[in-house]
Amino acid sequence: MNVQQNTPLKQLNTLAVESVADYFVEVTNIDDAQDSIRFAKQNSLEIKVLGGGSNVVLPDHVKALVLQYGGDGVNVLSENEEYVLVRVEAGVNWHDWVMMSLNHQWYGLENLAYIPGHVGAAPVQNIGAYGVEVKDFIQSVHGVYLESGEVFQLSAEECNFSYRESIFKQRLNNQVLITQVDFKLSKLANVNVSYAPLDVMASKRGQPTPLELANWVVSVRKEKLPDPAILANAGSFFKNPVVSNADFEALQSRFSSVPSYPQMQGVKVPAGWLIDQLGLKGCYFGPVSVHEKQALVLINHGGTGNDIFNAAEIIKKQVKQTYGIELEQEPRMF
Ligand code: FAD
Ligand code: NAP
Repeated sequence: MNVQQNTPLKQLNTLAVESVADYFVEVTNIDDAQDSIRFAKQNSLEIKVLGGGSNVVLPDHVKALVLQYGGDGVNVLSENEEYVLVRVEAGVNWHDWVMMSLNHQWYGLENLAYIPGHVGAAPVQNIGAYGVEVKDFIQSVHGVYLESGEVFQLSAEECNFSYRESIFKQRLNNQVLITQVDFKLSKLANVNVSYAPLDVMASKRGQPTPLELANWVVSVRKEKLPDPAILANAGSFFKNPVVSNADFEALQSRFSSVPSYPQMQGVKVPAGWLIDQLGLKGCYFGPVSVHEKQALVLINHGGTGNDIFNAAEIIKKQVKQTYGIELEQEPRMF
C-alpha cells in the first residue's frame, strides 16, 4: 500500500479540474483495500472512491483519502452453450472490457461501447446508451464496505437498478468500494438498433454483427461527442427528465416539436433538446461552455468545480423558468 500525499487529480478527471487530494492510494486487491480503510480510520480520514473520473465534479481540495481500485483481472466463472458468466475487476477500462467480450463472442454490451471510465463505476449509475442498460447484464457486484472493511456481494436485484440509478447512489452512496462485477453475457447475438442513428445505418448496410454494431457506436459517438482529452467534459451533464403524461401534454401544447419517448411512468423528454431550444449551444458561462454539437455536454475551459456547478445552475434555472422542468445533474459532486 503506497499512500501518497497532496496528489494532483487534474489528470484523473475528464473535466480536467485542478484538484488536490490530501491522500491518494491505488489498490489492486481486497487486502490492500482493507489496509487503506484501516489507515483512513487511524488518521480520521474520510474515504472517497475514484474510478476513471469521467462522471465526477471535483472541488479544489479533496480533504480525504482518495481510493482507486486498479485490479484488472478478467476470469470466466462458468459457461454453457448459451451463456458465460465472467468476473471482471473494477479497475478494467470499460471500453476495453466491451471489446474484449465481443472478441470472445460474448454478447450484450455492444451498445455500451466507448463509454469512458472503469468497470467498477458501471453499476453506480447503471450506465446506459442506445437503448441498453448495463443492469441487464450484471449478475452480481462485489466490494468492501468503507466503514467496516467487510466484503459484500449484492445480486443485481439487490442493487436496485433503475434509469441512471442504483443502490450505490442511494442507500450505499459513498459507502462502498466496488472491486468486481460479474457479467452474464449471451453466446447468441441479438443486436439492438432501435436508436435512430443505428437504425439508419442498419437500413443502409444491413443487420450488423455485435462487433460491427460496437464499431458503429464508436463512430457515431466520435462524431457527436467531444473527446475529453481535447475538450474537458463529463458526458451528459443532466439526466433526461421523465414528466407525467399531463405535464407532457401541457409542454407539447406550448412547444409542438418537443421530442418525446413514452416510459412506464410518464414521458421522457431529451434534456439536450430543452437546452438547445434556449439557444444555449456554444454559450459560455465564465470558463464553462455548452458544447456546440450536443447541448447536454458542458465543456470546462480551465474552470474550477465551482465554476462548473454555477454554469449548471444557470442552465437549470433557465430550463425551469421556460419549461417548468427541474433538471437533475448526472455527474457526482465529489
Ligand atoms: P468516476 O467518474 O470516477 O466515478 C463516478 C461515481 O462512481 C463516483 O461517485 C465514484 O465515487 C463512484 N465510483 C467509481 N468507481 C467506483 C468503485 N470502484 N466503487 C465504488 N464507487 C465507485 N455514462 C453513461 O451512462 N452512458 C454514456 O453513454 C456515457 N457517455 C459518456 C461520454 C463521455 C465523453 C463522458 C466523459 C462520460 C460519459 N458517461 C456516460 C459518464 C461516465 O463515463 C460513466 O458514468 C462511467 O461509468 C463513469 O466511470 P468512471 O470510472 O469514470 O467513474
Ligand atoms: P440522441 O440520439 O441525440 O438522443 C437524445 C436523447 O433522446 C437521448 O438522451 C435518449 O435518451 C433519447 N432517445 C433517443 N432515441 C430514443 C429512443 N429510440 N428511445 C428512447 N429514448 C431515445 O442522444 P445522444 O446524446 O447522441 O446519446 C446517444 C446515447 O448515448 C444515449 O442513449 C445517451 O444516453 C448515451 N450517452 C450518454 C452520456 C452520459 O454521459 N450519460 C453521454 C453521451 C451519450 P437516453 O439517454 O435515455 O438513451
